[in-house]
Parts: sequence; C-alpha cells; structure tokens
Amino acid sequence: MGKTVLIVEDEQSIVDILSYILTKEGYDTLEALDGPTGLQLALEQNPDLVLLDLMLPKMDGFEVCEKIRAAGSMVPIVMLTAREEEDDKVRGLELGADDYIIKPFKNRELVARVKANIRRMAMTAPIPPAQPAPGLTLGERLRVDEDRAAVFKDGAPLDLTQREYDLIRFLAARPGKVFSREALMEHVWNYEGYVGDVRAVDVAVRRLREKIEDDPGAPVFIKTKRGMGYYFGE
Ligand code: CA
Repeated sequence: MGKTVLIVEDEQSIVDILSYILTKEGYDTLEALDGPTGLQLALEQNPDLVLLDLMLPKMDGFEVCEKIRAAGSMVPIVMLTAREEEDDKVRGLELGADDYIIKPFKNRELVARVKANIRRMAMTAPIPPAQPAPGLTLGERLRVDEDRAAVFKDGAPLDLTQREYDLIRFLAARPGKVFSREALMEHVWNYEGYVGDVRAVDVAVRRLREKIEDDPGAPVFIKTKRGMGYYFGE
C-alpha cells in the first residue's frame, strides 16, 4: 500500500520539487500552501509523514506542529528549515517534531529522512537482541508495559511520546550498557549509518529526563557517560 506524504510549504517551486522526488520514490503526496490548510490535512487525511516548512502564511510551522501534537496525532513530522539556527531546530523538536532538514537539501538526504521516519513508525518492535520480557520491571520504580506501550513510574503512567517510549525501552532493556548518540540515532531513530547532527538525541534525553527523573539535573534512570553517550542506570 502506498504511503502518503503531506507537504506543507508555501513556495510552489519547492512543493513541486518535493512532490516530484517523492512521487518518483513511490509515495503519494498531499500539498498545503499555508499553515491552517496543512493542519487540517494532517488531521483529516492521516498522512504517513508531514514535511513541514517553518515560515508559512497565516500559521507558522511551529504552531502547526504544536497543534498536530495537541490533537493527539503521532504522525512523523520532519521540519523543513532554511535557517541554520540551532534554536529553530531545538524549538521544533521540543514542540514534537521528529526531525528536520535544512534547505537547500539533497534529494537523497530527503528521501532517506522520509523513509527512516516512516519506517520507524511502522516498526512494531525496535531492533537488537536483548528484548525485555513484557512488563519489564526496572528496579523498584519503573515498569515498561509493552502491551500498552506505556511506562509507569511508582505505578503512575508517564505521558511519553512514541520516540521517548522507544528510547527508554531501548536503553532500559540493556541496563548499564553505554550507547553513543550515533548508535541511538541508528537504533532508536532508525537511521542506518547515521553520521550527521545528533542533537535530536540530546533533546529527547532532556525531555525524557524531565518526565521520568525526580531531579532531571541529577538523573538516576537515564545517565550520561561523559564523552561517550547515555545509559540506563539503576
Ligand atoms: Ca516558507
């Protein structure tokens, strides 16, 4: 079955290029030239992925992203930004975007990002061995319920995004083992041989810590191994 990508971008020439590239790869595309239309199509047409420009008429990409998430949709969102500013990337990721691409982009990079983000959503179980038993209990306080794709702390469910759930589930199944940001990009974000910007990992870890740690500044669950990466403690 064909996958559908929603393109939200106000420059018709970029829409045309994106549509051409994606169609050639076998995707169906939907197009929106402003924020409100993009939001409406994202919620009503159930696309498999949203490519979201930041600077849009009527409602900018940040707001569209925030409203898609507020409506409960978990659709992968890849931001398109012409800007190099770290702030924009981080803000977008914090509002619930999964990834971003800097314009001008290479066709191959675009296709790789789209594929990786769709594949991640389609996966029912993350990779490597060491699968935790359903209902993995982590020390006294955390429990991963795989049937419900939920994590409980002290018996109370945590409000995690799909990515945050994937991340803690991956790390918690391998306690004490340190994973580099690149390795997490590969296993949790599902980029093969990823060598680019791994800031998304740091942002996700920070958000996850804010939700699961008593003191995010002194984490006991998701720990940092300086200069190496992250691991699950406890
Ligand atoms: Ca624009």
